[in-house]
Amino acid sequence: MTTIEFEALDYRADRTFARARYRYDGDERSGWRITRDGTTVLQLGGGYRLLRVRQCGVCSTDLARHHLPFPLPQVIGHEVLAHDADGRRYVVEINASHHARGLGGDCAFCRAGLPTHCPERITLGIHDLPGGFGPWILAPVAACLEVPANVPDAAAVLVEPFAAALHAVATVAPRDGERIAVLGPRRLGMLVIAALAAVRQQRRGGGADFTIAAVARDPALLPLARTFGATEVHALAADATLPSEAFDVVIDTTGSPAGLELAVQLARREVHLKSTHGQPAAGLRYGTELVVDELALLPFPRREPPTGQAPWDRLRTGARPRVAWSAAAAPPAWLAARAEVQRGSAAQLVAHYATATEGLPRADVAVVDSAAGVDAAVRPRGAAEPALVRPRGVVLLHPDSAVAGSALLAAVVGRGLVLSSSRCGDFAAALRMLATDPELARIGERLITHRFPAEQLVDAFATAGARGCIKAIVEHGGLGTTAGP
Ligand SMILES: [Zn+2]
Ligand SMILES: [Zn+2]
Repeated sequence: MTTIEFEALDYRADRTFARARYRYDGDERSGWRITRDGTTVLQLGGGYRLLRVRQCGVCSTDLARHHLPFPLPQVIGHEVLAHDADGRRYVVEINASHHARGLGGDCAFCRAGLPTHCPERITLGIHDLPGGFGPWILAPVAACLEVPANVPDAAAVLVEPFAAALHAVATVAPRDGERIAVLGPRRLGMLVIAALAAVRQQRRGGGADFTIAAVARDPALLPLARTFGATEVHALAADATLPSEAFDVVIDTTGSPAGLELAVQLARREVHLKSTHGQPAAGLRYGTELVVDELALLPFPRREPPTGQAPWDRLRTGARPRVAWSAAAAPPAWLAARAEVQRGSAAQLVAHYATATEGLPRADVAVVDSAAGVDAAVRPRGAAEPALVRPRGVVLLHPDSAVAGSALLAAVVGRGLVLSSSRCGDFAAALRMLATDPELARIGERLITHRFPAEQLVDAFATAGARGCIKAIVEHGGLGTTAGP
């Protein structure tokens, strides 16, 4: 049994920080009790190890934390570089799923290879689990990845957002000759540019090539975007002439509803949504939840698609997909031969799939015909889970959809635009790339513009939200901490 006591700054619903006294009692096998100012706030089962935080990045999700549907107060911060008692360095994947705790057999989502979507997960520094703006964390055992010796601290502390950036690039899968734009490159967007450049570099041996464009309102960001690998740059204020569908793919990292509107206008084949700002956007109430579940929005085909080219083939489920049909029009006759179709309202359908005895208790695909229908497929019972559609599933808009009031829906139905989204990434892949590309491993030198001691978290937050800061990190020194037997 280990006991650790420390002071940390809680983030509160009124967007202020307040000092609190924390105590962790327990061990990796039997679990932990977390108390704040003498009151038990969380009882964790086994599968968590105690680590000391070295550095933690401030990201847009932290700055928007008060909009997210998780309880406050909490010690936040999820871009963590930590170390153990022997000084070994670790980065920590944020989802405390059964799989991450070494209990993967207990859960359909973890068994299906979707541990980052485990419905019973809590999340480091975002949902319940105290994060890296405090000096100690309890990290899921299988979520701790040791940092290779040749990856410096300044790159290691960026692994969480860099892995997410790599995942975005893998999702949009740039094709030869395409123009890929990153909208609003700042702390996350610069990493998406770096990930695009690294993937482009790897593929060039095979002759593959694509354009990487940075599009920003703030022209001061564009020279930096070039150093990360942008091959062309556009300042929005001066360059008001950017034509509609100027790019094949637009990766929206603005974290703003207006950014998504612009991305829809500028993209020909796909908009990739990367941010979780918690606010309604493009006529959708649950846009953030759509990103959290990594869903995609596509048009339902107007005629039967050839084998292998149906919109649900991107799921690679292997079996006939489960299609939840809540559009008013009847399903076309050909669909019954290719999918398991259930008709009903989202509320009826979510109850139906909850009783599934095989696979995930969700539909693979929802077919809807309005923005309200998209919202109902994402969160049929309001802000809380469950979703109607499985994580990484697809929501299809029927050709007869009501699209007034949403440029996004109009583009999906009218010209076949795809909206995809992604959240977390694969830390091991990100670490491998950083360890084998010495130029990429220097990423932190360019991106991290501000460093603060953890005691100055309030200043770090204010600076991270201000123009002129790309990436701020906090560093833990010798805070007053006590450990006992
Ligand atoms: Zn983050
Ligand atoms: Zn699970």
